[in-house]
Amino acid sequence: MVRRLTLTFDNGPTSGVTELVLGELARRGILATFFVVGRDLLRKGNRELVQQAKDAGHRIGNHTMTHDVQFGTTADPDVPRQQISVAQEVLADLAEPEKLFRPWGGGGILGPDLLSTAAVELMRREGYTCVLWNSVPHDWEDATGWVDRALADIRKQDWTVLVLHDIRGGAMDHLGDFLDRVLADGVQIVQELPAECTPIRGGEVIGKLEDLVTDIPAATH
Ligand SMILES: [Zn+2]
Repeated sequence: MVRRLTLTFDNGPTSGVTELVLGELARRGILATFFVVGRDLLRKGNRELVQQAKDAGHRIGNHTMTHDVQFGTTADPDVPRQQISVAQEVLADLAEPEKLFRPWGGGGILGPDLLSTAAVELMRREGYTCVLWNSVPHDWEDATGWVDRALADIRKQDWTVLVLHDIRGGAMDHLGDFLDRVLADGVQIVQELPAECTPIRGGEVIGKLEDLVTDIPAATH
């Protein structure tokens, strides 16, 4: 059985880093998905950088508006709209027809703080696909060690959805080496997402959510 890898890059774009990532991917004919924070897209030059990624064939997803509030930790019923719908409006035509939303995991943690009943309701109502992960090698705090951790995850899973970050810190300097080792291992790098990591698909709940949701009701309109 051929093992598969779906590559995702969060928290960008970052001038000087995202270009490097795009170059390493293009050199090897690899397509990925970039999860962008809405607020960052409003910074000068960033929209053009994300457009460049989209034009190269990468998928662009929504990674919240401000990347600083977890749905399960706030009683404010308007947070899902602020973090999901507003960011999607900022993404506008950069976004995929399939609206991809990746919640902020506060360090990659898949736990009850990740979502709220209100956030799930909004994703169902507005037809989002919720994109989670099964490998977080902590590239943001270990610029070199992440490579071996990611390779270990990929070797033990049939289909890995890997979270990397196109941010400063030097981790992406090792992306080319990492990709060469993945390819040498015979792993197939794909852009599709496994059902296991998308508990909500196009607004339909297809996976288990119970350990990921805190009960916070939606705003009444
Ligand atoms: Zn993030």
